[in-house]
Amino acid sequence: MNVLSDPALILPRQRKVVSALRALLPAYAVLFNEEDTRPYECDGLAAYRQLPMVVALPENEAQVVAILNTCRDLKVPIVPRGAGTGLSGGAMPIADGVVLSTAKLNKIVKLDTFARTAVVQPGVRNLAISDAAAPHNLYYAPDPSSQIACTIGGNVAENSGGVHCLKYGLTVHNVLRVRMVTIDGNIVELGSEALDAPGLDLLAVFIGSEGMLGIVTEVTVKLIPKPQAARVILASFDDVVKGGNAVANVIAAGIIPAGLEMMDQTSSRMVEPFVKAGYDIDAAAILLCESDGTAEEVEEEIGRMSEVLNGSGATRIEVSQSEAERLRFWSGRKNAFPAAGRISPDYYCMDGTIPRKHLARVLLGIADMEIKYGLRCANVFHAGDGNLHPLILFDANVPGEFDRAELFGADILELCVEVGGTITGEHGVGIEKINSMCVQFSAQEREAFFGVKRAFDTAFLLNPDKAIPTLHRCAEYGKMHVQRGQMKFPELPRF
Ligand SMILES: Cc1cc2nc3c(=O)[nH]c(=O)nc-3n(C[C@H](O)[C@H](O)[C@H](O)COP(=O)(O)OP(=O)(O)OC[C@H]3O[C@@H](n4cnc5c(N)ncnc54)[C@H](O)[C@@H]3O)c2cc1C
Repeated sequence: MNVLSDPALILPRQRKVVSALRALLPAYAVLFNEEDTRPYECDGLAAYRQLPMVVALPENEAQVVAILNTCRDLKVPIVPRGAGTGLSGGAMPIADGVVLSTAKLNKIVKLDTFARTAVVQPGVRNLAISDAAAPHNLYYAPDPSSQIACTIGGNVAENSGGVHCLKYGLTVHNVLRVRMVTIDGNIVELGSEALDAPGLDLLAVFIGSEGMLGIVTEVTVKLIPKPQAARVILASFDDVVKGGNAVANVIAAGIIPAGLEMMDQTSSRMVEPFVKAGYDIDAAAILLCESDGTAEEVEEEIGRMSEVLNGSGATRIEVSQSEAERLRFWSGRKNAFPAAGRISPDYYCMDGTIPRKHLARVLLGIADMEIKYGLRCANVFHAGDGNLHPLILFDANVPGEFDRAELFGADILELCVEVGGTITGEHGVGIEKINSMCVQFSAQEREAFFGVKRAFDTAFLLNPDKAIPTLHRCAEYGKMHVQRGQMKFPELPRF
């Protein structure tokens, strides 16, 4: 564990690290006063906070290499940070560590409209890539709801997804090449600008590695042509089971919509007064089902999707008649997280993935947990991918509510694993789901993950104690966590 909280120990170490980093960077790029480091104390998982010892803001790759060499020599852990919108605590600082922010590495290096690629620095915002490509009628497909703020470096580290990833793939499907620096200060390029690269596919290993294997300094992404037309269906259901089954039926009919999202009644009621998207707030669930392509393709697909939705028991179907209406229908979905603040002081956003056929079962399971934990939950999620985002609503000022919210979240993830799913879809493990990794993976599997980490980060200094739980941690969790009367890991040591 790298966390030192004793100021008597931190201060001399801080002085040493600041003076070493100031030899490499301008003074304004090394922050250590509390008023300067406070903005870095958490990411989007604001329930967990920790002031960093130092924040470094490199402006080029050579400075990244120098920072890593220095931190390695001084044995200082490093937490990479993009925009800090992560929801699993991946960019949460370590008390005796350096936060390496990519805020100043924010240039679009090259836009190649012929090859349809863009080469960008890690701190470039997701949406800025599409904005730069828009005059050429191109865009970058993965579209996290946070795309106005989140960076491509963070997207690579989390393998981020979005509404349109059902049809166009996640970050891993849209990145051709990553240039990164290892803890040894070596610059390594993974992947290539061609469709494939010889050797082991280390690019796929790296994408989603949550800042634990290297610091991304440049990314080559694919750009694709903007579809000529897009329309979205807004379908209402009087029962979440029918809505869940409709999702499975659309895919089973051989249709891959450009987006297929579901909102339960709690979600549509919290968002509608705020955004006025035109949602049916009497429906138990609504689906947003988009088609894109040529005008003919869209018309044909909208017809087929409407047929399946009607056959699955939709009580009302509306199809967007203009681009303005399409954007209005989506605006409610896109603003669902901020709208949660209207009905609850705090919310805890979970992220698990399940086989689509189990959507209805899991939604009913979550409804039971609302009663068990005495907390409300709004479900608004990437239904086509089976990627759930339950927003557990709580009030941190009420003693015990946050603890109950955490247990509620862990229970949801265990249900996801029980039906053959996973404990994360697109938000990563970070610190938030580290205990749930003990539920999903065996000791041997977790040791294999550590093996990969050791191969890249021999010094164990890059974002340590995130994403992969130690044997000891799982043993502790096993001791604490009794499920249906059974200890989780009876075979593990008791201390
Ligand atoms: C309102 C809201 C909506 C969201 N919607 C979505 C969504 O639809 N889909 C989705 O996938 N996510 C979503 N997220 C989560 C979040 O935006 C993504 O995980 C995003 O990719 C994080 O990017 P960031 O730049 O903020 O990274 P940060 O939060 O700063 O960091 C995330 C992780 O990446 C690592 N990292 C950052 N930069 C680098 C680098 N250069 N090299 C190595 N590691 C690095 C960090 O150490 C950390 O582990 C949402 C978040 C919010 C707040």
